[in-house]
Amino acid sequence: MAKIKMTGAGLRVPNDITVPFITGDGIGREIMPVCRKVVDAAVKQAYNGNRSIDWLEVMAGEEAFKQSGAYLPDETVAAFKEYLVGLKGPLMTPAGRGVRSLSIMLRQALDLYACQRPFRYFFGVTSPVKYPDRINLCVFRESTEDVYAGIEWPYGSEKGTKFGEFLQKELNEEKVRFPETSAYGVKPVSKEGTERIIRCAIDYALSHNRRSVTLVHNGNIMKYTEGAFVNWAYDVAEREYGTYLSSGRLRLTGITCDAFFQNAILHPEEYGVIVTSNLNGDYISDVFAAQVGGVGMSPGGNINYETGHAIFEATHGVASDIVGRNVANPSSLILAASMMLEYLGWKEAADLIVTAIERTLRQGITTADIADSYKHSSCVGTREFGEAVVKMMSI
Ligand code: NAD
Repeated sequence: MAKIKMTGAGLRVPNDITVPFITGDGIGREIMPVCRKVVDAAVKQAYNGNRSIDWLEVMAGEEAFKQSGAYLPDETVAAFKEYLVGLKGPLMTPAGRGVRSLSIMLRQALDLYACQRPFRYFFGVTSPVKYPDRINLCVFRESTEDVYAGIEWPYGSEKGTKFGEFLQKELNEEKVRFPETSAYGVKPVSKEGTERIIRCAIDYALSHNRRSVTLVHNGNIMKYTEGAFVNWAYDVAEREYGTYLSSGRLRLTGITCDAFFQNAILHPEEYGVIVTSNLNGDYISDVFAAQVGGVGMSPGGNINYETGHAIFEATHGVASDIVGRNVANPSSLILAASMMLEYLGWKEAADLIVTAIERTLRQGITTADIADSYKHSSCVGTREFGEAVVKMMSI
């Protein structure tokens, strides 16, 4: 098996590749095997056996902790660094104060700054809105900066107290209402960080035949962070994509977060590509996920387009309440794997998977989470859903 490499011309992907994967905690143990079967079947069928994936399991989460005493062993990070592209099931955030999410740690270790979340509706999935089929868009969330960068200190801690004193004494900042009892966090937003996420969103729009890119921000209130995000975004777009803008091939507009949330429900068809900062992106993703069937239907990719590193994942958590019952929906992970194949340039296999999921759901074969109010559905288990998807590939 050969390794995927990043070259000046982009990813170089051999026909037989090694892909590291983390099974994940909780329902990860149920959905990952199903997902791998679906992917293997799609690759085999799309390329008549001329391409293949050698899955390399790497440890993280509870299982890793049991075996090695570390939730995210160095070897796991090293494997993703070495093999460039991988797949990940959900991971439990370890209990205890100050312990960070393993998914965030992985994103930071590999500088996976672009969180890409496509949302579309599949006919047959129950939805709380009248016209969920109006949703067909992709959210680009910057995921290394903003208040989620992880720079915050508890009230009463040495650093927190020092920071509070610095604000008051050195910067003469008097806006903190209760300085004696405040905890503090920092919101870094940089020009480089903004420019690289804007480029990904625009490149995606251009390569996926989308005309509209929308900046969602709170720049009217947070002028020097989110406001700067908007200004830098327009600057880089003007500088590097000016001809697309002037020809009308590309339209870049901005909208404040509060107005956007209303529109996300009322007129989601107005959006093609959305690009936003870290915290906004977190909320925005959920508002669309809820409309297209929930977290079980929403895949994600975390990508660094310069180094080529990417980890595709189910966006939901470990779902402790349904573990071991064969009822989890594997679609989020399967669709994430399809995004991975598209990223690798294996588009035929990626499309086979999406079409097979479309057919499965259209026939009323669903898992329990998306079946409740669908009148003609036949609700199946996790494994059976995967088998149905594989079967649909050869129809
Ligand atoms: P969760 O996504 O695990 O569960 C929320 C609800 O959605 C539950 O009712 C669950 O049963 C349901 N659900 C989730 N995935 C489903 C699926 N595939 N099919 C059917 N139903 C599904 O969110 P939570 O309870 O907030 O988090 C539990 C743990 O997972 C926490 O430790 C959290 O930190 C972690 N988490 C990890 C990730 C990740 O690894 N990317 C993401 C979110 C949460």
